[in-house]
Amino acid sequence: MTSTPLSPTPTAQSEALFARARAVTPGGVNSPVRAFRSVGGTPRFIREAHGAYLTDADGARYLDYIGSWGPMILGHDHPAVREAVAGALQGGTSFGAPSWREVELAELVTRLTGADKVRFTSSGTEATMSALRLARGFTSQHGTGRKFIVKFRGNYHGHADGLLVEAGSGLMTNAAGHLGTSAPSSAGVPEEYAALTLVCEYNDPAALDTLMELRGHEIAAVIFEPVVGNAGVLIPTPDFLAALHRVKEAGALLIADEVMTGFRLSLSGASGLLGIRPDLSCWGKIIGGGLPVGAYGGRADVMEFVSPQGPVYQAGTLSGNPLAMAAGLATLRALEADPDIYPRLESYTSRLAQGLKDAARDAGIPISVNQIGSMLTAFHQDAPHGSVGNYTQAARSDTAAFAAWFQAMLGQGIYWAPSQFESIFVSGAHTVSELDATLEAARHAYRSVSE
Ligand code: PLP
Repeated sequence: MTSTPLSPTPTAQSEALFARARAVTPGGVNSPVRAFRSVGGTPRFIREAHGAYLTDADGARYLDYIGSWGPMILGHDHPAVREAVAGALQGGTSFGAPSWREVELAELVTRLTGADKVRFTSSGTEATMSALRLARGFTSQHGTGRKFIVKFRGNYHGHADGLLVEAGSGLMTNAAGHLGTSAPSSAGVPEEYAALTLVCEYNDPAALDTLMELRGHEIAAVIFEPVVGNAGVLIPTPDFLAALHRVKEAGALLIADEVMTGFRLSLSGASGLLGIRPDLSCWGKIIGGGLPVGAYGGRADVMEFVSPQGPVYQAGTLSGNPLAMAAGLATLRALEADPDIYPRLESYTSRLAQGLKDAARDAGIPISVNQIGSMLTAFHQDAPHGSVGNYTQAARSDTAAFAAWFQAMLGQGIYWAPSQFESIFVSGAHTVSELDATLEAARHAYRSVSE
């Protein structure tokens, strides 16, 4: 049995830190969902993390299902990653010149994903932003001037201006005033930028086909989450994937945003798992092993358009940072060395999914569970399990019921994602006894919501 504390947790230190943080940082956090706005209560300020557990400023221990929003697939403070970063640290923290770890990580990423070439950035946002600039530059080379991009409602691709259009979780839960409006979904994004982003419903192949028929000649790229994590988990249908591949016929590039799914769903990402053949892909999170990294890559003829080889400019002072490269290399090598890890994560997460379904049913709480590999969302709504397929359906969830359930879990030491519209992540550090403790806590939590 796990030593997870299944009793209410103290928050005095987190409250004090949150008050200080609010005085000097907008909303007291450096990324919006961390503020617990949609679930209420005090965000826990984390002191340290090891394995599957977080310890907060009050010394309370939480079983973690966020994993830093995806990167920590091996669990926190994994020995191989810690040693690799400590080793790199001996040699200095940034060179502003090329170094061997960048070459090794690029070789590993290209070998595992099938991309011909890859360029590292410092965040997922930079990766998607740069991939779109590249797509516009590449597809306009014959003077056809393709300015438009297509994205899907509820898909999040980072916070570049043109991508903050109907953009998923953080926006669904924090910018409530903008929910359901058309583009843009953040203040400060000029309408003219947003107008260059065309939006379709996810899993609607007919809508995508129609859009491409009407506007295909103006479209540089279609960017998508190959499994959505940012509206809660949404799984693409085969028909939708077929329609995505057809966009290439119109001369648009297909860009798979694997920032969340890359190395999460398989060593070759969601694309490898689902047979998707993108022209370009974007990565982040796991390839940095918990340090700041992003990357984009794909077809050689397209990537050769990136500076200094080609005319599309993109750069970064800390790109290819030796510590981040070391953490990424150690993480990917550990994943590759453990052939059992993806099947184990899948079986653990489906055990969690089944347990949540049973517990909610017994308490009379309607939930609809979407799960694939180690990603899972339990939407508080009565749709059949596995049937929530787009943003509009996800948005029907009872967010107040979710918030009450979330707080009941947190009070028992289980740190779930603090938004209905997020995936949770199971890591290699979770064990069966931790899953069972989670399900026990979930039973209590569903019962408390039903009272
Ligand atoms: N794309 C996807 C699918 C993401 O989930 C995220 C972040 O959650 C991003 C892009 C942006 O990455 P970052 O937060 O590193 O800028």
